[in-house]
Parts: sequence; structure tokens; C-alpha cells
Amino acid sequence: MKSRPLVMSESNLQPDLYQPASSVLELRGVSCAYDVGRPAVSDIAFAAHEGEILCLLGPSGCGKTTILRAIAGFEPIVSGQIFLSGQLVSSPDHMIPTEDRHVGMVFQEYALFPHLRVQENIAFGLRRLSRSQRKMRVQDMLRLVGLEGFERRYPHELSGGQQQRVALARALVQHPVLLLLDEPFSNLDPDMAGRMRQELHDLLRRTKTTTILVTHDHDEAFAMADRIAVLNQGRLEQFDTPETIYHMPATPFVADFVGQADFIPGTVSSGMVRTELGEFPDTLDCEDGTSVVVMIRPDDIHLVPTRAATSHVLSRQFRGSENIYAVSLPSGQIVHSSQGSTSVYQEGTPVELRVLATHTVLFKQPVAGPT
Ligand code: ADP
Ligand code: MG
Repeated sequence: MKSRPLVMSESNLQPDLYQPASSVLELRGVSCAYDVGRPAVSDIAFAAHEGEILCLLGPSGCGKTTILRAIAGFEPIVSGQIFLSGQLVSSPDHMIPTEDRHVGMVFQEYALFPHLRVQENIAFGLRRLSRSQRKMRVQDMLRLVGLEGFERRYPHELSGGQQQRVALARALVQHPVLLLLDEPFSNLDPDMAGRMRQELHDLLRRTKTTTILVTHDHDEAFAMADRIAVLNQGRLEQFDTPETIYHMPATPFVADFVGQADFIPGTVSSGMVRTELGEFPDTLDCEDGTSVVVMIRPDDIHLVPTRAATSHVLSRQFRGSENIYAVSLPSGQIVHSSQGSTSVYQEGTPVELRVLATHTVLFKQPVAGPT
């Protein structure tokens, strides 16, 4: 049953994307290695549902592009399996060629053909269609990405953002089962990147395109993703919604990578963790005497200027919509607090700290001090 149109458009682009399988993409225990015995990514497992936008998030070199290339069929895998629409496409001894996977790709450099006009760039993969069909599909795409009237321009006559939209149109015009985007905003200035994020998000939602977006920028991942896979040194550290990743990070690495986090040492006693900032529930069920760290985000610490307080404002960073304060505790430990835009306290102001205990997260392992 083809009940879900891929692209809403008067000229009725075919809904040939509809897949009955619940997962459009599934990776099971996938490892890739460029050098024998030294995997670049290890034991990666996640799945994308139809219409979902997933982000692969992690620092440079953690293996994001490698995973994308494995999904596209450019990179063999040394263990595990990759399924597209329920069909096995990659395993150590089985590899379906890229052209049979029906994935669309947009990489960091948009790689438009410089000698071809916009309309020819978009139509490049449609050679099997008749001239009139091709023209119709290209017009649909130009309308979709907001580039009507630009069809006869060459890539060098377009801005970075417009080139990016052409690259997107060229990928989407083929009605891919899955769209793969590798850091698509990294060549744009921050303003343009912000606008393109919003545009792209709207476009992917409108077209119900299942998408894997690679980024090293947690703001971008938070803004775009239904779920985020956080990677560190070739391993998947957490796969969850942006909210859970932020508020309940599975590891100290995730906690630190997706936003400012302070780690306060404490000791467990009778079901509570005792720290310099007060007591918190021991959510890990540790034995008495266990050393833990409590992760606290700036938005969970509220400051109250109090003359007799023993903590002091060290510095203030004005961010427009908020002020981020660094506060020194009596022990010398530094924590951060986010306050409203108009809450301005001078350096040295004594402050009491009120911590929202419900948002704290405990880790057993020791963590390097806050930055
Ligand atoms: P990311 O996209 O997250 O920056 P990559 O997937 O490009 O990371 O790289 C993951 C790891 O694999 C890195 O250590 C990188 O140096 C290595 N690597 C990537 N491409 C190659 C290659 N063609 N040959 C050898 N090593 C590679
Ligand atoms: Mg990369």
C-alpha cells in the first residue's frame, strides 16, 4: 500500500519511498577497519525508522564519515550487518553495490559539476527518464528547495547556501530510501548555517525523508535530530533522544561533549551522595563510602546573592539570552550557572547556590576536573 506520499507537490512525485519495513536502516555490530586489526569503528548498532532524522555526533576522527560510507556501500565492513529496508546490504562477505542501495548523499563539499547548470546538476541521475519527465522532476525539486528561477545558473554563480540546496535537490530528486548528509553546513558561515538548518529540517519533515546527518556540533544535532548517536573513538556511547542525551548522559564523555557540565566529587552514605553543594540521592545504589561524581549543568544551578555566602562569582559571560557565571566554591572547585539575561552580578559577589537535584546525574568513574 502506497499511502504516504514522499513529496507533496501538484505534479505528483511518486511515493515510491514507502517501505513496509519498520526500520529503514539497521546496523548490527558493525565494525570497519582501514588497517587490519585496528578498527576505525567498532560494534556500532542503531536503527532508523521511516521519516526519522538521526544524527551521528562526535569529535573529529571518531568515525562518523566511516559509518556513513559503510551505509552508502563505499566502505566494506569487517564484522556485523547493515540492513536497508529489511534487506541485508553489507556483511563481511556480502556487499550490495552503492547504486543498488537507493541512498542519497550530500557531502561536506557539495561536489556540484562546475560546468553544468543547476537544472543539469539536479537532473544528472535521471538519465533513464524522458526529457519531459526529467524537466518536471527538476522543476518540482527547484520549487521544493526554493530555487525557482535559478535553473540556468552555474554553481559559481550561486552562494554557498544555494549550492547546498542544489546538492540537496540532486540527492532528493532520486527519491532515496535514505538521505546521508556529512557535515552539510560546515562550509557555510554561522548565520547561513543556522538558516539552512531550519530550512533543511522543514524540508526533511515535509518530504518525510529518513535521514542520517553527521555533525560534530551538538547544537546542530539538538536542533535537527529525532535521535542522536554519540560516538567517541569509534564506539557508540549513547543512542537516544536529544533531551535524554542532554539530561541523562550515559557516560562522562557524552555529558561533557553535549554541553557545559561540572563534575562535583562526593561520597555515598545511607543512600545519599554528600558533596560540597549539598546532598543528592544515590541513583546508582552504591555501597556506603563509594566515591562518585555528580554531573551538574549550568541551567540546574541557581544563584542567590547572599552577603554571608562562602561561594563567589569569578566571572560572567554574557550570551545575549543568558549570563553564564563561573562560581568558586570554598574548596576552590569551580561550577557554572546559567542566569537570566538581566541577572547581572559583579565579580566577587558572594552567592548561595541552589541546585535542582532532580537533574543531576551520577557517575562512578573519576572524571578530569571541570574546564
Ligand atoms: P570523522 O568523520 O568522525 O571525523 P572518520 O570516519 O573520517 O572520522 O575517521 C575515523 C578514523 O579512521 C580516524 O582515525 C581516521 O584517521 C581514520 N581514517 C579515515 N579514513 C581513512 C582512510 N582512508 N585510511 C586510513 N584511515 C582512515
Ligand atoms: Mg568526517
